[in-house]
Amino acid sequence: MQDPRRATPRTDQVLADPQVAAAVTRLGRPVVKRAVTAALERCRTGEVDASQVVGVALAALPLYPTSLRPVINATGVVVHTNLGRAPLSDAAREALQVAAGTNDVELDLATGRRGRRGAATLAALAAAVPDAGEVHVVNNGAAALALATCALAMGRTVVVARGELVEIGDGFRIPELLESVGATLREVGTTNRVRLSDYSDAIDESTAFVLKVHPSNFRVEGFTSSVPISELSTLPVPVIVDLGSGLLAPHPRLPDEPDAATVLRAGASLVTASGDKLLGGPQCGLLLGDRDLVDRLRRFPFARAVRVDKLTLAALEATLTGPPTPVAAALASRPEDLLLRASAIASALTEHDASAVRSEAAVGGGGAPGVVLESAAVSLPADLAAPLRQLDPAVVGHVVRGRLLLDLIAVPAEFDEAIVEAVRRVAKDG
Ligand SMILES: *Cc1c(COP(=O)(O)O)cnc(C)c1O
Repeated sequence: MQDPRRATPRTDQVLADPQVAAAVTRLGRPVVKRAVTAALERCRTGEVDASQVVGVALAALPLYPTSLRPVINATGVVVHTNLGRAPLSDAAREALQVAAGTNDVELDLATGRRGRRGAATLAALAAAVPDAGEVHVVNNGAAALALATCALAMGRTVVVARGELVEIGDGFRIPELLESVGATLREVGTTNRVRLSDYSDAIDESTAFVLKVHPSNFRVEGFTSSVPISELSTLPVPVIVDLGSGLLAPHPRLPDEPDAATVLRAGASLVTASGDKLLGGPQCGLLLGDRDLVDRLRRFPFARAVRVDKLTLAALEATLTGPPTPVAAALASRPEDLLLRASAIASALTEHDASAVRSEAAVGGGGAPGVVLESAAVSLPADLAAPLRQLDPAVVGHVVRGRLLLDLIAVPAEFDEAIVEAVRRVAKDG
């Protein structure tokens, strides 16, 4: 038998293979070269044949030029923090393509002079919330609140109800965020109750503003009271509302979820919110409110440190002006339609112990805590959960009482066939 070391091709021969060369163009040379080197090593030991080296190397390559992997969100959580919050609309994705290259983000092509960065995006946001005198966009919701606080309350106090001292996730807390940019908190009321007089008693010459934080990830029930914005707005200092969710106008399916238009109309001076929760856009932070106040924030030096990039501006514009977002589509979905889809998927998978069931979905980290969204799911054996997560795209559901539920509320219908194929594939392998 021939010595496999002699039959092993040279690295440059393998790299010259058209498919390998195409992979170098797509993924970069170091990654491809590592895969080729590993395949050649296996060839030298006789584990793979010389004719298989290219195939083995290609199979070992990462699927994408990013380590992020696409996921079908069958968790039943519409805005899933661990899955990247809001998926972008096709319009926003197309906008990203344009934004990714060289473009006129700060150039007026008509005059050849410098143009206002993000003008069209800000105009679209202003048009979406006519009650806001002025609007501005920063990197995320926390940055919006940090900018407002450091511009208005550095070395001063912010009055906030004890029941609204929220931890937003990953260990980050709103009160600590405010203190980290130089504000002193003046907590009022108790965990469950606060009155207008608590606020007015706490206000003095050091007060910069009253902050109302929407508890977007928990609910306090029972003997509770909070002060409506219409009453807070009678106080002699600005009222800033950290809305979180990014809902711009009331949503029929989320009647208790506050929205920017309603909050501003009730007398808030400024609203801060996230762009990638219920608004369904890219990660960003929205500042909406009094013209003078927003202008001040926009020009404050720290604003430059939380400035959004061209990708965000483009995706946000398309989110605001384009067709309904996937988040909006999920919230508008009807349980009966979802059940029909689940039944169709389940009947294609009867030999794999699949059935269609009604389910309860949630908005998720984006807001509306405790709200149950009626939905439907495909119920499968729980041991399929792990292999389904290994596919491309990965299918992520949730296990309830020994069954894997693939909830369809956040799955666009065009993925139904992919779910059928994914289950067939892992059930066959298993
Ligand atoms: C989500 C949220 C934030 C933080 O927004 P990010 O966009 O994640 O920075 C702040 N406040 C509230 C009430 C939130 O729900």
